[in-house]
Parts: sequence; structure tokens; C-alpha cells
Amino acid sequence: MPSSYANLLSPLDLGFTTLKNRVLMGSMHTGLEEMPDGYDRQAAFFAERARGEVGLIITGGYGPNRAGRLAPNSDYIAPDQNLDGHRKITDAVHREGGKVALQLLHGGRYAHHKEIVSASAVPTRINPVVAREMTTQECYQTIEDFGTAAKLAKQIGYDGVEIMGSEGYLLTQFTAPRVNHRTDEFGGTPENRRRMPVEAVRNARQKAGKDFIIIYRLSALDLVEGGSSLDEVIALAQAVQAAGASIINTGIGWHEARIPTIAHMVPRGAFTWAVKRIKPHLGIPLVYSNRVNNPAQAEAILADGVSDMISMARPLLADADFMKKTRLGKAEEINICIGCNQGCLDNAFTGKLTTCMVNPRACREVELNIAPVKAPKHYAVVGAGPGGMAFAATAAEHGHKVTLYEAASELGGQFNLAKIIPGKEDYAETIAYYDAMLRKFQVDVRLNCRAAVEDLTGNKYDAVVLATGITPRTPEIPGINHPKVLSYLDVLAGRKPVGKRVAILGAGGIGFDVAEFIMHPHGASDPAKPDIARFNEEWGIDGDYANVAGLSPRGMNMPCDKQVWMLQRKPQGKFGSTLSKTRGWATFVEIMMRGVAMIGDAEYIKIDDRGLHFRTGGKDQVLEVDTIITCTGQEPLRELEAGLRKAGMAVHLIGGADEASELDAVRAIEQAVRLVAAEA
Ligand code: SF4
Repeated sequence: MPSSYANLLSPLDLGFTTLKNRVLMGSMHTGLEEMPDGYDRQAAFFAERARGEVGLIITGGYGPNRAGRLAPNSDYIAPDQNLDGHRKITDAVHREGGKVALQLLHGGRYAHHKEIVSASAVPTRINPVVAREMTTQECYQTIEDFGTAAKLAKQIGYDGVEIMGSEGYLLTQFTAPRVNHRTDEFGGTPENRRRMPVEAVRNARQKAGKDFIIIYRLSALDLVEGGSSLDEVIALAQAVQAAGASIINTGIGWHEARIPTIAHMVPRGAFTWAVKRIKPHLGIPLVYSNRVNNPAQAEAILADGVSDMISMARPLLADADFMKKTRLGKAEEINICIGCNQGCLDNAFTGKLTTCMVNPRACREVELNIAPVKAPKHYAVVGAGPGGMAFAATAAEHGHKVTLYEAASELGGQFNLAKIIPGKEDYAETIAYYDAMLRKFQVDVRLNCRAAVEDLTGNKYDAVVLATGITPRTPEIPGINHPKVLSYLDVLAGRKPVGKRVAILGAGGIGFDVAEFIMHPHGASDPAKPDIARFNEEWGIDGDYANVAGLSPRGMNMPCDKQVWMLQRKPQGKFGSTLSKTRGWATFVEIMMRGVAMIGDAEYIKIDDRGLHFRTGGKDQVLEVDTIITCTGQEPLRELEAGLRKAGMAVHLIGGADEASELDAVRAIEQAVRLVAAEA
């Protein structure tokens, strides 16, 4: 065992059972749960993670009764339900030597159906349906239902349950005065407000018996007005412990909080300070979650005494073998989660199947498998961006010979631009991962090498994969060649200086990235040295936890030394509409707080020494700016294609070279992996 991961790799003895290491795979609702063959697919998904040696797996959330289910078609755990399918999950995990707990999640006012209930009928901005207040009798029945569901979970083979009491779901709605306005024994005093979760745990322990893992997921920090104080959080944790919990997991922030908690701009380990305050008050294992994505960081958190275990969810989507590679001392081969949310949460929150940008096989374990290669080919891949690297590494891993051409001096393509955007520094991890894989599988990498048709033809290769990416589109505006006009590539790759007064043309993902790049006073930082104090200061978080829910009375404070206007041809209300569903809002809030002005319905007239002339709402205006940055789309770069086809080469286009409308690394990497599978 490498001594550097001594804490992370040490077993956790729970008395009646032992977990093989200190990593818990956090619950994720992947969408597999609702698929017709969902149990088979979940079994394959979880078995792969068990094989990858994670200590304990938590399933996606299942309601403990009908009212608590998340969506109209969601299954729930009750005696009237056929639960046989769960056996496929538990058997598959156990066959791989793993352990798995079922998450019992009552959605309360966050569920998406018409029968939703809560502590009180308090609307939330994230659900158009207002929940009905539960009667006192329904509260007692819900406690019984949690207990019955735990007993059923044990009968169908689970090693335990996790009772979900964080992120703003039902149990949190009871504990916090924000939603709990009740006057019966479930409302009013802190003791009454915690009655529901504490009795749910007690009932689960009574009904499931003693040799069964019961995890309570505690909201360590609510980050919403009307949330719980630190004293209340500690008192709840202690009461849950006394009621029979085996482990306390933690969660940060309600879903309706205005502070990002897992998005890319959240520094690694951003909330360890909150969990560390709870630890001394407990005698059972405590788990830290949120923005832990590599074993060295996880080890450091454990060594620092923040918690006894680490929960990781997305990092185990990105790499099922995270813990196995850690144990084998191959951390550099871990495909690191970069916090983009694009393949996982964005899909989950728009009703699509979860997957992962950097691992397209995630949640597709039964369909996206690459058969052993019978007749190896020699591929030339042109372009070492995410798609090109993914194809080269995957093809070489499965037995093909690959030569990778890259005109630049480094691997990474567009990810080299992403990694310098403040908050997106982790994109460098994907480049480092593919660098390690290209070496491991002996890809012939030729940097500083701009491939020509003659390099790729003449029987040297069996096929060519063009992953040549895109070139920025230049808008047709009189004066577009004025020296004050820069393309986004000039700014991000060329690092050309930008003035104090700036107009950004275009409000797609790249426009927002450029705004973050030029408006952020500190620029990109080293993710291994997270500046949590600055994050707290900017987002209005009270790092001393002296205020209720950890909210600072000072509010947000995001300075900027530039004056920036962002313009788009689309109407004003459509600003940010193409951004990520689950992290775009935080980017939007951030640049608004830094003072960007947004102008929609803009018709660009001309650019001259005065600045940008444009028309909006029928009125001509001039923005007297120093710099105008064009972020107005891109064109595919595929100039080699015609010559290669003429020479009779087999040519495959992937990524931006195939489709440039929106830069989309999820599609590029998936195309690459699917192409390898199709060619096998
Ligand atoms: Fe992580 Fe992005 Fe993959 Fe989600 S899609 S697991 S955030 S790398």
C-alpha cells in the first residue's frame, strides 16, 4: 500500500461489517432508475464501480412512500411494490465484493408530481407546484414508512440505507424554519423540527435490526435564508447518532441556494471548514463530500481530521476504477472529474440519461463496449484536442496502432483555452490524463507537426480521423478589421491585451467564458491550492459559521476593474439560455455581480475609432470602448478532408471538425469512443 494514501486505503470497521476503504460513492440519480431495463443497467453500472474497489456504494434516491417519489413514474420502496429488480443490483455488487446501500429520499416540495407534500405549504422557486402541508398523522406515517423501507431494503439484499436529510429535500424542510411553519409537535422548537429525521432513523433501526448500515445524510450547511444554525446542525447530528445511525454523511446547500456548491468554480474541498466543526461532537464516522476529485486531496482531508470518509459521486462516473488505481499507485491514470456538469447533472436535470463528458461509457455499461480488435489498423489522427486524444488513446488501448499529429506544441486543443478560464482550471486534468494514456498505449505523438495530405496518404495509414476542431467565425460588420477588434482566440490563446472598456459580441458559452476571463481580477489559479477564503468572500459565505446557514450578512462581493458590455442579436431575455443548466446560472450570477451590462436585440452597424455602433429597440447607439471581442460562433476546420477523400483514404470527422455549431466536448469525446467501438 503506498504510504501516501494510508488513511484513504485503510478499512473502516463498523463493528458488524467492514468497509474496504474510506471512499463512499455518493448517490446520483442517473435516469437509469426509470428505464424499462433499469435494474439490469444499474446492476452493470454499480458492479463496475464495485469492481473498481469503492468502499461503499449508495444508489440513486428512492422514495419511502408514494408521496415521496421524485417523479410520477419513479419507483418507491413500500410493501405494495414489486422490488425484485433490486436483487439484480445487490447481487451484482456483492459478486464483485462490494457493498451497497439504498438511498431513501423523500422529495417533499422538490418532487415533480402533483401529490407533493412538505412540512408547510411554502413555495420554492425551483418547483411551480406548491406542496401541501402534511397532517400530523401523515408525519407519523412517514416515519413508519422510512422504517418499513429500511426493513424492505435489508430483505432485498442491501447492506444498508442512506436516509436523505440534505440538499433541501423533505427532512431538511422539516429541520429548517425556512419551510417548517408548523405548530404541532413537528414544528416550532429545534427539537420539534428535528423530530421527523430523528424518528425516521430510530424507526429504521428498530425495523431493520442492528447488523445493518444506516447512514444519515446531514445538511452540514444549508446556505439558504431560514436555514439551520451550526448548533442546530450539531444537535441534529448527535440526535441521529443516538437514534441508531451508523455513519453520518454530509451535504452542502439546498438546491434552491444561490451559492454554487459543486459547480466548476467551487474550489476543491470548499466546505471542509464546516464539516470539521461537526466532527468533534460525534462518535460515529463522518463523511465529507463536495468537490473532492483526486486521491491526494481526499487523503489530505482525512489526514487533517475533517472526516473519517470521503464521498465522491461524479469522480466515480468519470472513472469507475478510481480506488483500484489509487491502491495500485497509479493515480496519474485516473480520469479526473473536472466539475463541468455537462454530461451528468445537466442531463439529469433535463430528463436525459446521465453520463460523463470524460467517460462516455458511464451509465452505458451494457451498450458501449469495445470488442477485442480482430484486425488491428494503423490510424492517423489529426488534432490533439479532447476528441483526437480520446480516439487515439482508446484505439491504442484496444490494439490499434495510432499516430497523432498536432500542429501546436502541446496536447489539449480547446481545453488549453478552457483551463485558463477562472474556475475551469481542472480541464488541465483531462489533458494530463490523456497524456498518460497516450504514453501508456504507445501512441506516436507528433507535436509541432501540421499534417498535410501527403503525410497521410500513400498506404501509410488505413484510415484518418480528422479532429482538427474549429476556427472562429468573423462577423460581417463594417470596420471588423479595426485594431480594437480581437477574436476570442486572440484574447485567450494570444493573450492580447484588453482595454478597460470592453464590448463582447456574442453571449454563447464562449462569450461568457471570455467575460469570466477578462472580468476576474485574479485570473486562473492552481486548483491544488484552493483559495477558499476568497470564494467565501465573493459568494457571501460565512466561513466562521457564526451566522445561521453559513450566510454572511455582507452578501456577495465580486470586484472587477473593467467595464464590460455583452451584446447579442437574440432578445434580452435569452441571455445565458445556452449555458449549462446546472452551473450556467452561477456563471451568470458571477458576471452580473462583476457588473457586466447586457444588451439584447443588437444589430451591429459599424466599428470605428469611437467604438461599436449598433442599433437596439430602433435606436442607434455607440459604445465607446477600447476593445471589441468577437465570440460569434465558429466554423469547422476540415481543409484536409477533400484531398484525403480524393486520394481514396477512409476519413472520419469527429468533434468540431464534424459539427461546429456549439463547441461540445461531450459530443467530441463520445464520438471518438463510439468510432473506436464501431471500427473494432
Ligand atoms: Fe465530472 Fe463533467 Fe463527468 Fe460530470 S460530466 S462526472 S462533472 S467530468
